[in-house]
Amino acid sequence: MIKIQEKSKCCGCTACMNICPKQAIKMVEDEEGFLYPKIDKEKCIDCGLCENVCPVINAKEQKKEQKGYILNNKDNNIRADSTSGGAFTPIAEYVLDRKGVVFGATFDKDFKVIHRYIENKTEIGIFRGSKYVQSYLGNCFAQVERFLKLDRYVCFSGTPCQIEGLKRYLKKDYEKLITVDVMCHAVPSPLVWKKYFNYIRKSKLNKEKVEKVLFRDKSKYGFKYSTMTLKSKNNEYSRGVETDPYLRAFFGDLSDRPSCYDCAFKKQYHESDFTIWDCFIAEEFDKKLDDDKGTSRMLVNTEKGKNIFKEIENKFDVTEIKVEKLVENVKEMLYSVKLPEKRKDFFYDINILDEEEFFNKYFPNNLKVKLKRIARITLIKAGIYKQTKKVAKKILRK
Ligand SMILES: Cc1cc2nc3c(=O)[nH]c(=O)nc-3n(C[C@H](O)[C@H](O)[C@H](O)COP(=O)(O)OP(=O)(O)OC[C@H]3O[C@@H](n4cnc5c(N)ncnc54)[C@H](O)[C@@H]3O)c2cc1C
Ligand code: SF4
Ligand code: SF4
Ligand code: SF4
Repeated sequence: MIKIQEKSKCCGCTACMNICPKQAIKMVEDEEGFLYPKIDKEKCIDCGLCENVCPVINAKEQKKEQKGYILNNKDNNIRADSTSGGAFTPIAEYVLDRKGVVFGATFDKDFKVIHRYIENKTEIGIFRGSKYVQSYLGNCFAQVERFLKLDRYVCFSGTPCQIEGLKRYLKKDYEKLITVDVMCHAVPSPLVWKKYFNYIRKSKLNKEKVEKVLFRDKSKYGFKYSTMTLKSKNNEYSRGVETDPYLRAFFGDLSDRPSCYDCAFKKQYHESDFTIWDCFIAEEFDKKLDDDKGTSRMLVNTEKGKNIFKEIENKFDVTEIKVEKLVENVKEMLYSVKLPEKRKDFFYDINILDEEEFFNKYFPNNLKVKLKRIARITLIKAGIYKQTKKVAKKILRK
């Protein structure tokens, strides 16, 4: 029977819960808002399946012949809707064109982030755009298996730990399963998201029903400047990475799952067929692809992935890049985020302070923050932000 001695050793993938033949495992929320398996010892028959399936306990890395690309979806609407270059949509379309099913992360009616599946191309948009919150998986793994056993194509997209959990749960490789993972820095707590969402709705949207959330709104200051936007019928809240408390918590690594500070999936060779992530330095690879509307990097990790890529390649403006070059200096691929000293207090306070007190305590919108924001936006508008940042970095290094 699986025993979680340290929370950092469980990424919450749900594989153990899904595999238990006695339904002895439930995923239970802790005080930080993350789910962990809880075993009913009365029901457990000590079969050991939960330990064998766990992708953290059984972490491994297998070298592969990869291909590397940077790409922009040729459809400007899809690209505008996606976080980077719209790499995910053509893979999902490939599967749906073959009467398959596509799983991904989306919002439910209360803007909780969940995994679910679709069977219709008109719905792909619900998966576009990164949601920087750990998604609720429920019994998706069992659903994937059911579809595969019916000989349907299935595309499953998620974080690397979700993909590895799914693959270990399935035990065998299905020809019709296509997996896509995002190059994942870390996942924030659903509790922090809920608290923030309520705070913004009450304080900035006049308590109206939220209609849209964009964690990386490219329409304001382009792809390279992270902007959070929440919209209701008559109001809109939109703030950049220096001032928005949620982005500050995420990029400051305060709100992440404990397993992300000691991630077992930081490696070059992922188990997925495709790994996709942001390319903020497109001009260093191919100037033609850099228009600040979003460019994706893609690693194709398997032969299956390579065959599918040949069929969808025409959907992209694409340049092949040597794998060593593509992954050079990609810190989020190899290194876990650092645990900030303040994290313990942050998660203690989240349960005792009200929303406004909490976010003002950790992310005050003081003069320094306001000046930083104005400076950054002025430089972006003048088109010299990147050059200034490079020079500032050089000076700081000296
Ligand atoms: C939690 C998280 C952390 C990330 N960290 C980094 C990073 O450090 N560096 C980097 O370059 N890129 C990171 N990314 C990836 C990046 O944000 C884009 O998802 C990626 O560039 C693909 O964009 P796209 O335009 O090609 O696809 P899009 O069409 O935007 O595709 C979005 C895909 O992401 C999946 N997805 C969205 N939210 C979640 C979620 N909460 N959990 C699991 N899957 C999700 C969807 O199912 C869909 O497949 C991260 C993404 C997530 C979700
Ligand atoms: S040991 Fe077997 S029965 Fe017990 S919790 Fe794990 S999977 Fe379930
Ligand atoms: S990492 Fe996944 S399989 Fe392992 S204990 Fe956590 S939820 Fe279970
Ligand atoms: S950083 Fe690692 S443990 Fe955390 S969500 Fe990403 S893949 Fe999973």
